Order: sequence, then structure tokens, then C-alpha cells
Amino acid sequence: MLSAQVYEEGCVRTIDTDAISSVLRERMIDTSARAISLTNFHRSEQSEDLTHPPNAEGFGRIHRFELEAFDDWPSNPLPIEPALRALGLGEQAHLDAQIFQSSGCNWRCWYCFVPFKDLSANRGELVAVADMVDWDLAAHAQPHAVDLTGGQPDLTPEWTVWYLEELERRGADEVYVWSDDNLSTDYLWRFLSDEQRDYLGGHPRYGRACCIKGYDQQSFAFNTLAAPELFERQFALLDRLQRTTAIDYYVYLTITTPTTDDLGSAMGSLLDRLMKVHEYLPLRCVPLKVLEWGPVTPRLKPPQRTALENQMAAVAAWEAELEVRFPGARPDICDVPR
Ligand code: SF4
Repeated sequence: MLSAQVYEEGCVRTIDTDAISSVLRERMIDTSARAISLTNFHRSEQSEDLTHPPNAEGFGRIHRFELEAFDDWPSNPLPIEPALRALGLGEQAHLDAQIFQSSGCNWRCWYCFVPFKDLSANRGELVAVADMVDWDLAAHAQPHAVDLTGGQPDLTPEWTVWYLEELERRGADEVYVWSDDNLSTDYLWRFLSDEQRDYLGGHPRYGRACCIKGYDQQSFAFNTLAAPELFERQFALLDRLQRTTAIDYYVYLTITTPTTDDLGSAMGSLLDRLMKVHEYLPLRCVPLKVLEWGPVTPRLKPPQRTALENQMAAVAAWEAELEVRFPGARPDICDVPR
């Protein structure tokens, strides 16, 4: 059984990731109807943070990805550059994407912009992927991008396959699809066939964000409430993705930390781990700046407030170590070999 505490703001228990993942998946997918449980923003407090009103009957929203969102933080080319490249478009400083958000996640990052109430799949509604695609194509001229986010979309890895298939069925060949994965489960292998993984890997308009949560076991557990040893699982899954699929993947890093002790050597270890997956993988990584969204404020106790400040030192340590390993290298992220 799922612990109710896991779903409450301020929970401090360690999450049983595998048990919760399995229960959430049951709630979040109907394979015969090819439907996924989505958050409806008309019924979510998250709507207070939205710049534009929800679309797609409340199940969708528009998000602007910006290359240079902050003066004091590295640029973020994801998913802007892969999407523009795949769609044959020229350079742009931002990208407006259609978002659909699955209604469950197995972790509870204190900095998550989603209210925890919208991560237990209790408030979600099963929506046919065919309907999502119809709403998407009605709302946007091609070419455009779609982000299948969460929650943890990869609790239901069929979602991305079904979305791409529905686009194909409609001849919509100028839509780029991007999805997120928090690197917590092996569901990509457990629930997709070899053919489905090959389909994702061979698709010219699909890209994937894999999220590394922290830079060591301590910061990982502090950020996610998952068991510290699952930090190692994140790299094992990344390695499996690299070796057994051709999926075009990139890595987001959230490097919020309660302490800056030994930051330089810890970042060195992070780079070592990434380079074991692929020698150039650090150049496909983008640190994400954590912000104080509406749902985040009540979760901020002194350690989290300190972590918001410490992320500046952490990103400086990341940049310094990156420069040591790849002096002067600033390639377009799409050109970095995978
Ligand atoms: S893994 Fe992602 S969706 Fe889940 S709690 Fe963390 S930030 Fe939110």
C-alpha cells in the first residue's frame, strides 16, 4: 500500500520507489484505450503559476523554453536546439511548446513546480492519446514542439510511442516530441518491446530529457526523498539507455545541495560517472536553475533555502570542472556524439 504521508507536503519519510512506481503505473494507464492519466489545470493550483490560460480542455498548457533565461546561470538549449534542428528551423532564442502533464510521480522533490497533490494520480483523469494529438494539432500550426512531461512520464513509457504513432497516423510530420524521465525505473525496458524502443531510437523527431537529481547520494536523497543508493541507479539506467537504445537523449542536472563541503571533488566524481556512460556526455548535460514557484514556497525550510543559495556555488563548480575536462569546448548540444 502507498503511504499517505508520501503524498503530503512536508513529508520526510524515505520513499519506497519501486512499490510506489508500480501502484502509480496502475492508476495512470489504460493500455486498451491507449489512455494516460493527465492533470487538468482547471482543477490544479498550478494554474496560478501559468502565464497563459490552459488549453486542450484544461489538460494542456503552453510553456516558453528560453535559451538565456538568467544572467547568472548557464544557457539552456533544451529542448530548443534539438527541436529546431529536427524541424529544419533556424536558430531561435525561445520555443513555445504544447505541454501535457501526467498526474503521477514516484518522487517528491522539494523544488518541484507541481503541487504534490497532483503527483499521486488521484486527481488525474485518463485521456486518450488520440484526443491529446487532436487537441494539439487543432491548437498549433506545424511545425511545432510538444513536451510530454509530468509527473514522471516514464512510469507509462507507452505514452511517447502512442503519441508519435498518432501523429504518424494523421500525417503530421512537422511535430517534435520531447519527453522527460527522472531515471528511477526500468519501465522503458519492462513495458516496451524491442520494436517500440527501436521506434523511439529511430524517430527523427523525438528527444528525451533524463534528469539527474543531485550530484552525489546525499544531495540526491535530500532533493527527491528517495533512498540515497538510487543515485547509483540513475547512472545504471543512463548507461542502459546509452548501450541498448539509439534514443536521442540529453541530461538535466539539478544540483541543489544542503552543503557545499568538498564541492569541487564531488563535481569531479559526477563528471567521472557521466564520462563512464559516454566520454562526451557532460557536453550533453544542462544544469537547471531551481526557482521558487508557488507550490515550492511552503516546502522551504532552512536547508532548502540554503540549497537555493548553494546552487550558485554548485553550478560554478560544475562549470569549472567542465572546463578542466573540455577546455574551451562549447559545441551545439545536438552535435555532441551520443
Ligand atoms: S521527479 Fe520531477 S515531477 Fe517528480 S517530484 Fe521531482 S521534479 Fe517533480
